Amino acid sequence: MQNYHPVTPQIIESLIKLLGRENVISGTEKLCDYSHDEYAQDDICHYPDLVVRPADARQISLIMKLATEHKIPVTPRGGGTGLCGGCVPTLGGIVLSLERLKKIIEIDKENLMVTAEAGVTLAELYKAVEAEGLYFPPHPGDEGAMVGGVIATNAGGARAVKYGVIRNFIRGMEVVLPDGEIIEIGGKLIKSSTGYSLLHLIIGSEGTLGIVTKATISLVPPPAAIYTLIAPFANLNDAIGAVPKILTGKVIPMAVEFIDREAMRVTEQFLDKRWPSDFGQAHLMIILDGSSEDEALALAQKVAGICLENGSGEIIFADAVDKQRTILELRSKSLDSLRKNMLEILDITIPRARIADFVRTTEQLAVEMETWLPTYGHAADGNVHTHIMKARWKNGVWTEIPGWREKYPVLMKKIHALGKSFGGVISGEHGIGITKKPYMEDFLGKRQIALMKSIKNVFDPQSILNPGKIFSEPD
Ligand SMILES: Cc1cc2nc3c(=O)[nH]c(=O)nc-3n(C[C@H](O)[C@H](O)[C@H](O)COP(=O)(O)OP(=O)(O)OC[C@H]3O[C@@H](n4cnc5c(N)ncnc54)[C@H](O)[C@@H]3O)c2cc1C
Repeated sequence: MQNYHPVTPQIIESLIKLLGRENVISGTEKLCDYSHDEYAQDDICHYPDLVVRPADARQISLIMKLATEHKIPVTPRGGGTGLCGGCVPTLGGIVLSLERLKKIIEIDKENLMVTAEAGVTLAELYKAVEAEGLYFPPHPGDEGAMVGGVIATNAGGARAVKYGVIRNFIRGMEVVLPDGEIIEIGGKLIKSSTGYSLLHLIIGSEGTLGIVTKATISLVPPPAAIYTLIAPFANLNDAIGAVPKILTGKVIPMAVEFIDREAMRVTEQFLDKRWPSDFGQAHLMIILDGSSEDEALALAQKVAGICLENGSGEIIFADAVDKQRTILELRSKSLDSLRKNMLEILDITIPRARIADFVRTTEQLAVEMETWLPTYGHAADGNVHTHIMKARWKNGVWTEIPGWREKYPVLMKKIHALGKSFGGVISGEHGIGITKKPYMEDFLGKRQIALMKSIKNVFDPQSILNPGKIFSEPD
């Protein structure tokens, strides 16, 4: 266990001199906002001693030099939309908020790349890029997430099926190392076989190896047309069974989400909006894009045909933008509608052909343990979100699940063990943070954890940068 030092009044004075008084935050009330992320439970909440809001990489470098000299833990924070406590300062110290690094430095139309600072939100990035006639495909569900945060978690989202996750788009980065040195990795490059990929090591490292201050990100031309289909199936088996048929039918949709019709009723009530089909128990929401209206329509018709051949009820075509928006809103707000009565959203990823078996086994577990485990997710990439609940929703009414407190750790263990037995990983897109740490060794084994800890030690020998995340800090 490392011995960290407290933030002394002298250090606070140095930081005020560097950043200005308004960018050094102390006082319990203001620190509260920086003590948690969007993880559902309060028990991981932890206050930092101080929050700093630097304006650029140079200031971040000086903060890290000071933190190294005085051995103070520093936790980087983006939009705070994470779902596993990654930006929670568990050991106190300094929260380093990237919120002031807001510049979109360049949109390079010839190289199809945007260079943006770490504190630009996804909403701001989409807007800027689309205004220039370009497109950034990944869409993790909360547009308040920031460039640095989505890189640090290697975020995914529904559109990963066709376009891949954040990792597939990051080409270059400016990173401040724990000792304060600023390095530039990669560039406006499509290819690089130049030694170990530090770029890909930083992506998904959850702020434990370096602070991303700027990134160069690939873009694509925007699709000319987008179609959203809802294919309702009698049960999950039939719904998931249609997915490989779509893919082997030589169509790669932008997104294929599976929806639990019962869980969607909670969202309908929450938003006071209607999902377009009431048939069956499991629906596929399929988004298709094309380089022309005709191409997108032909793909949509082909996919509809495949779904009908495989047992779907009447297919709903959403070609109008407002209809697509309502469907997307209902899907995006599923988490929010469950959250008040939720303990945890799991993020297990398994081979996609096994989703139906996995969900069926989870449902059996819910029956055995007298609980409710609503599950939906990304059907074509195997990323399944099972929600561990403290109350059950039925016909518009929430009822507390007896013994939910005791059931929670048992369920966490059992569902993760199930994920492993299906050849899965703990996290497909949210990361490990604090909450999924206890399951890392079960999934990866001692040797892989030891290698990860050695890498951490090379970057951060004093373990001052986001300590205690992903795995316990070195002894
Ligand atoms: C409603 C909702 C829907 C969501 N849907 C999705 C989804 O579909 N797909 C998905 O992948 N995620 C989803 N998420 C989770 C979340 O949005 C992502 O994990 C996102 O990538 C976090 O970004 P952030 O800027 O909010 O990071 P934060 O929560 O602030 O931090 C996350 C981690 O990144 C580190 N970090 C932040 N900024 C930096 C930086 N500049 N340099 C180094 N490390 C940094 C932090 O230390 C922490 O470990 C959803 C969350 C919500 C609330």
